[in-house]
Amino acid sequence: MSSIDISDVIPIGDETVDENFEGFLEEYEDEEEDEQIIYVESNGQTCPYCLETGEIQTAGTVEISDGYAFQEVFCGACDRQWTDVYQLVGFNPTDV
Ligand SMILES: [Zn+2]
Repeated sequence: MSSIDISDVIPIGDETVDENFEGFLEEYEDEEEDEQIIYVESNGQTCPYCLETGEIQTAGTVEISDGYAFQEVFCGACDRQWTDVYQLVGFNPTDV
């Protein structure tokens, strides 16, 4: 007869909770990543929350800092608000 280690049959409370919590976090982060992809691929035209297109409006001026630009926007369909984040990607020479 083989002996059974009790820790093999009774889940240790803390480990179970941790695993569930990690699973929840992974799911949550995946969802948030999907929202980011939807938004960027639509060039900021599709609301990441309600998925309406063409309802996003600016709510403030553009602020620029260290190669990034930020602008408050909101969705006219679901009223959620967030900050658009832009990154400097290059420059165009200007003829003077
Ligand atoms: Zn919306």
